Amino acid sequence: MRLSRYFLPVLKENPAEAQIVSHRLMLRAGMIKQATAGIYSWLPLGFKVLRKIENIVHEEQIRAGHNPILMPVLQSADLWRESGRYDDYGKEMLRMQDRHGRDMLYTPTAEELVTDIFRAHVGSYKDLPMTLYQIQWKFRDEVRPRFGVMRGREFLMKDGYNFDLTKEDALHAYNRHLVSYLRTYERMGLQAIPMRADSGPIGGDDTHEFLVLAETGESGVFYDSEITDLKFGDREIDYDSVDQCQSVLEEFTSRYARTDDTHEESVFHERVPEERRREGRGIEVGQIFYFGTKYSEPMGATVQGPDGKPVPVHMGSHGIGVSRLVGAIIEASHDDKGIIWPEGVTPFHVGIVNLKQGDEKADEACEALYKSVEALGLEPLYDDRDERAGGKFATMDLIGLPWRITVGPRGLKNGVVELTSRRTGESEELPPEQAIAKLA
Ligand code: ATP
Ligand code: MG
Ligand code: MG
Ligand code: MG
Repeated sequence: MRLSRYFLPVLKENPAEAQIVSHRLMLRAGMIKQATAGIYSWLPLGFKVLRKIENIVHEEQIRAGHNPILMPVLQSADLWRESGRYDDYGKEMLRMQDRHGRDMLYTPTAEELVTDIFRAHVGSYKDLPMTLYQIQWKFRDEVRPRFGVMRGREFLMKDGYNFDLTKEDALHAYNRHLVSYLRTYERMGLQAIPMRADSGPIGGDDTHEFLVLAETGESGVFYDSEITDLKFGDREIDYDSVDQCQSVLEEFTSRYARTDDTHEESVFHERVPEERRREGRGIEVGQIFYFGTKYSEPMGATVQGPDGKPVPVHMGSHGIGVSRLVGAIIEASHDDKGIIWPEGVTPFHVGIVNLKQGDEKADEACEALYKSVEALGLEPLYDDRDERAGGKFATMDLIGLPWRITVGPRGLKNGVVELTSRRTGESEELPPEQAIAKLA
């Protein structure tokens, strides 16, 4: 992409409405534009990151054997009356009527809708286990939408639902989700710690939230410092293996780690020696639940068991805050100049800065670098505007691409360009081919 043709409306000033760094940087880097309270348009740079995050979530869900679907954002209230949640859900649900006076709602979550699909099409235990998931917009009329996309009213969520014959099978699905989430967040350059949580309005027995440690997080967190040393890494896992998934769950959840909803000071002190006790704040980027037959029973989602008798399926639901993650990643990875994108989600891999646009040699060298970067299967963003070098550098630092290649007539005379790492700030002068080789 060439910056001269890209829509990147960067702001020079700090927007007054932004209270936290990720919101400020997303506005300054031209990633989003507020449409109205808690509702945002995604501009090209923000949209690109959102799509990258979405892709990682899809890839990891599919790797875990889950089926992607897409359900509508508008639902009929009838299903929610069947489950008994319509009146209970409260003011976070945006309710409306169509022209015939039928009660509708904008989906805040989709347990009912997916259970309705399941009961229409699945009749036998032989079709289980089954997990359906979608990445779709949700609406919750939050009392205090704030922090940009971190607490929006409209937000993008991955929501997955498992259907199993027994509690045991459903707990395996729970564990499978935990493992897939660990992989998912690590691919985004994040450490998200599973913490024992409270089930809230979705209801259920077993639940963990995934928290990214950050000062600006809305949850209080209490944990054993040993937990921050755990990494899933690139280990191979067989998602069908009950034992393998169970052992990952044990590894990642056996140490004390809880949010303020479930924290017990006495247990914390009993289980964690003082020097390892940590208290802080965290951003909830996902949650997994097992809730058994809470929806399948009232909604009649049964399958015929091996003995021919109908049994209500055991279910769970599992969410990832896809749009919130954009903010969470920035909270976890920035400096005073701007964003520092982890490689896995960066909108472009390399920024090419031409110090003297219009200089024949510099232009040529930039064009050649552009093609070489593309040939590696990486995406370049070429600042080909006729602007001061200082402004170009500031923009590149703000939008946080992992690498910058700076090209100018003076360097070219010596046969070199400059390769700079956004994360370390270190620069090297290299012949163009060697700079490209370093990116490969
Ligand atoms: P919170 O405690 O932050 O209100 P939640 O527990 O109500 O979140 P869940 O029902 O668990 O949310 O939804 C799954 C995920 O969707 C959350 O872990 C979070 O990452 C994301 N999410 C929830 N509400 C919002 C929101 N208002 N804006 C952006 N993302 C959200
Ligand atoms: Mg909430
Ligand atoms: Mg929560
Ligand atoms: Mg939650």
